[in-house]
Amino acid sequence: MNVLGIETSCDDTGVAIYDSNQGLLINRFSSQIDIHKIYGGVVPELAARDHIRKVMPLIKSVLEETKLKKSNIDAIAYTAGPGLVGALLVGATIGRSLALALKIPAIGVHHMEGHLLSPMLENETPELPFLSLLVSGGHTMLVDVQSLGRYSLLGETRDDAVGEAFDKFASVLGLSYPGGPSIERCATEGQPGHFKFPRPMSGHDSLDFSFSGLKTFAIQTVDKLKLDDQVRSDLAYAFQDAAIDALVVKLKRALKQTGYSDVIIAGGVGANKLLRHRIAELAQQLQVKAYFPSLELCTDNGAMIAYAGYLRLKAGFSEELNYAVYPRWSLESLEPIHSEAIV
Ligand code: AMP
Ligand code: MG
Repeated sequence: MNVLGIETSCDDTGVAIYDSNQGLLINRFSSQIDIHKIYGGVVPELAARDHIRKVMPLIKSVLEETKLKKSNIDAIAYTAGPGLVGALLVGATIGRSLALALKIPAIGVHHMEGHLLSPMLENETPELPFLSLLVSGGHTMLVDVQSLGRYSLLGETRDDAVGEAFDKFASVLGLSYPGGPSIERCATEGQPGHFKFPRPMSGHDSLDFSFSGLKTFAIQTVDKLKLDDQVRSDLAYAFQDAAIDALVVKLKRALKQTGYSDVIIAGGVGANKLLRHRIAELAQQLQVKAYFPSLELCTDNGAMIAYAGYLRLKAGFSEELNYAVYPRWSLESLEPIHSEAIV
């Protein structure tokens, strides 16, 4: 069974084909960084317009590259939420229309379920149940992945997502968008100990996060300073150190609380080398195994949507032709996928 996956929830257009016999056949993207760069963040209307331009050419190119014909596609999975409504509507409408024309089923997939299941596309896969740390431009959450489709939210950010905090502080430092990689690069020249930023909520018992206090503290620190390259690097260093610490403290608590032996990291911030290093150290300390999906599966992508869609279709989920998108959609409201239905 070949499933075409379409991801358009935010600022990356992703198209992929998952083959239930051979696994992932192809996974292609088009990034909108150049479009949103000048604004320092994603502009929803521009995102939707660019998805319109990019989805069909990407679908054509994945078919050409895999030498598949449209008639070889057995089903279509598209991101139905959560995300930007205009952006979601592009993928949903194109996915639904193509499915109607090709007389094949289509299914709307929960974007975060895609992220949670994306490590299953790697050679080495975690064992259920496992813990997941989802860290992106729009989300910061710790999820208990009990079984396929059964997710329990252990903690999430009460304000800014961690990636968003990186993006905003980078813009204050005059660094380019997206801020995460810029801060990481700038921090390599930074000196430890020149600035000390707070680790919000780290003493708090809950597994929730907060990044707006750190962001505000960091911005107020900048306001009192004259920036030069070294000061900028020292600030980037202190910010990155605090943000990553805040994540790792909660991850440690969640691992102890669940007693799970496997943890996966997903989302764009998962590319951060300091985060990867600190989590690897923690994993060693607690004798657990940390899985970092490859970068192309870590950020928003069509492969995870194709795969989650495949699992749901195979387990018997189906949808009416009148479809909807869900800008806000709780992970915990999803129906479990009965794995005995999946061969
Ligand atoms: P996503 O929302 O999953 O598409 O990922 C994009 C977010 O990840 C943006 O907020 C980026 O600033 C952030 N990001 C990407 N690379 C890094 C990095 N190396 N360190 C920290 N944040 C990053
Ligand atoms: Mg993105």
